Amino acid sequence: MSTRPIARDSSTTPKLVLSEISADILQSEIRAMSVECDRVHGINLAQGVCDVEPPPPVVEAAIAAIQNGQNIYTRLDGIFRLRVEIARKLSDYNGLISDPESGILVTAGATGAFLATCMALFNPGDEILLFEPFYGYHRNTLLSQRLTPITVLLDAPDWTLDIDRLEGSVTPRTRAIVINTPCNPSGKVFCRPELEAIARVAERYNLFVITDEIYEYFLCGQAKHISFASLPGMTERTITISGFSKTFSITGWRLGYLAADPKWIPAIGYFHDVAYVCAPAPLQHGAAAGLLELPADYYVELAKEYELKRDQLTEALISTGLTPSIPDGAYYILADASRLPGATAKEKARNLLARTGVAAIAGTAFFTEGRGENLLRFCYAKKPKDLAEACQRLRSLS
Ligand code: PLP
Repeated sequence: MSTRPIARDSSTTPKLVLSEISADILQSEIRAMSVECDRVHGINLAQGVCDVEPPPPVVEAAIAAIQNGQNIYTRLDGIFRLRVEIARKLSDYNGLISDPESGILVTAGATGAFLATCMALFNPGDEILLFEPFYGYHRNTLLSQRLTPITVLLDAPDWTLDIDRLEGSVTPRTRAIVINTPCNPSGKVFCRPELEAIARVAERYNLFVITDEIYEYFLCGQAKHISFASLPGMTERTITISGFSKTFSITGWRLGYLAADPKWIPAIGYFHDVAYVCAPAPLQHGAAAGLLELPADYYVELAKEYELKRDQLTEALISTGLTPSIPDGAYYILADASRLPGATAKEKARNLLARTGVAAIAGTAFFTEGRGENLLRFCYAKKPKDLAEACQRLRSLS
């Protein structure tokens, strides 16, 4: 007997359609703005591309690895050497004890780490708490997994945490809280009392906590980075995510990692394998060399360099009447764009690009419906020459 399906007549054949969630996707405003910026040969302060040079030991070790034949798949959790170096760094900088054999997963960027974590830990319809303003990829990754992001607004201009608001957002479907510190786009660095308050909520409702610490070295002034998992009793429930895109200026290499209780790693690793197989093999050697060879001073200098850039852009924004909310970390500034013409933040961003050739992102990309219309986000991870030129152009607006 034939097993071929019976052809349907065209009037009853279902149409070819996208999935239900695909109907709602929009092209990322960040990418759209970058395309527009290229078209007018502008200066792109829109995308967090970090176009400064990577440190030589990182580049040299990656090139050597390619030449020495390290070009095949690695173990799904990454090369041993890199996991050992990550464990050492987690202990020295973050105050976390991780076993390189069972507690660390090298990933395709922090992005891959976050996706695999969501796939492994949550079920469709689970609610995940996300502070707002949020990093768009966090929200979109949750949506892609049929999860429900529930945003908890932080109060401008300092992005203060209202812990009752967080607790009031918990429902029986809540499974996790996402913390991004230092935060893109707000530059907020969560302080210890805030993290302790979040820890009490996580404990009370038995929630996972996923932390994205990709900007952990980008700190200004007295700001201190605290890893949530280092708080007493928080290790088991916390998935700590970080990566090398920002610290080593290698956003295109797609290298990150996560640290978690060994009982979560096999499932997260399984889904990371499904999506990516492994992180790029030779580049893992580059990151390992960076962690091993770069002196402590490298990280101090990095923070100083970015703080100077923050100050430079802050001054330009103030002088042009785009009042910034001054970040403590990461490398973005949210600025009040009320003075620019345009009914929406997108129109204001396009107006600014047309008048100055400087691209910024509409604040609405980081907020839920109806918020962020008066804000623009500027990225200062730029080469000195480009940042200076952008600041001069912004000043010309005043
Ligand atoms: N997390 C945050 C908060 C970011 O801002 C970015 C990049 O802009 C990423 C993650 C991306 O990290 P990766 O390049 O390691 O995937």
